[in-house]
Amino acid sequence: MHSLNRALLVSATALFAAAPMTAWAQATPDYSKVEIKTTDLGNKTFMLEGQGGNITVAVGDDAVLMVDTEFAPLHDKIKAAVTKISALPLKTVINTHYHGDHTGGDGVFAKDGAVVLAHDNVKKRMTEGSTNALTGAKTAPAPDRLPTKTYTGDKTGVELKGRKVQVGHPANAHTDGDTYVFFPDANVLATGDIVSIFEGRYPNIDVGVNGNIKGIIAAVDTYLKLSNDQTKIVPGHGPVLTKARLQEYHDFVVGCRDAVQKAMAGKSEDETVAAKPLAAIDPKVKSTQEASDNFVRLIYKSLKT
Ligand SMILES: [Zn+2]
Repeated sequence: MHSLNRALLVSATALFAAAPMTAWAQATPDYSKVEIKTTDLGNKTFMLEGQGGNITVAVGDDAVLMVDTEFAPLHDKIKAAVTKISALPLKTVINTHYHGDHTGGDGVFAKDGAVVLAHDNVKKRMTEGSTNALTGAKTAPAPDRLPTKTYTGDKTGVELKGRKVQVGHPANAHTDGDTYVFFPDANVLATGDIVSIFEGRYPNIDVGVNGNIKGIIAAVDTYLKLSNDQTKIVPGHGPVLTKARLQEYHDFVVGCRDAVQKAMAGKSEDETVAAKPLAAIDPKVKSTQEASDNFVRLIYKSLKT
């Protein structure tokens, strides 16, 4: 076995061994059965898990801020979980990206009075709809839950009295409208789906809206720089991670990128897929051949742009 592959296997084993099975992939989730689990991350900062993307909640002196909203039918349960944490009003929602499992509840929380902030491109995708680069499947526009406030560059204008909130936009990573939120006073980093760990799946890259593996690697580099050994990293999906686990994820993604880059030299996309460049990693991710092939295609398309 090639030494690089061996290193990757070790890394992938460590990375995915502790990832729990998720019900996220169910075609029609039964929201009535979903329970919201609250994890205290310290210094008035919390993670909520229900169905869909992870939620991060930060309590300030006079208001609550929340990162992502899962699905609209879960609004009441999420709101109850937030109220249990703090009686202060939920004034700000920040979206990590436009995908429905992270923004589904936006419209309802906006009706409650929250400002919903996202990168400009989130509004663009939710206004225009989008197309999956692999399947051609269309995601319909979502005019009922558009962000009420958008940003470009560094001027997000996010403030939470009594707290420090650092908001940033990694370019062209999971999508073209990604946002991370770092709470330095709690040492908690919400990454969105740029970091997302599912057993049985490779990371998703929404290449149809200019997502790119190069941007994912660059963003994870940024996250590593923001973190230290005490940082609690809330990924888009999966349990809270340490910096060491984030480093493993980084090395795993870089390893996948390198393997595809090597295999694609002088080859078409189909020829690269046929060469099965991720074959040594697939068993540890417990990936199906189809999911592996799809990830190869996403990396191929990323590296061609
Ligand atoms: Zn996503």
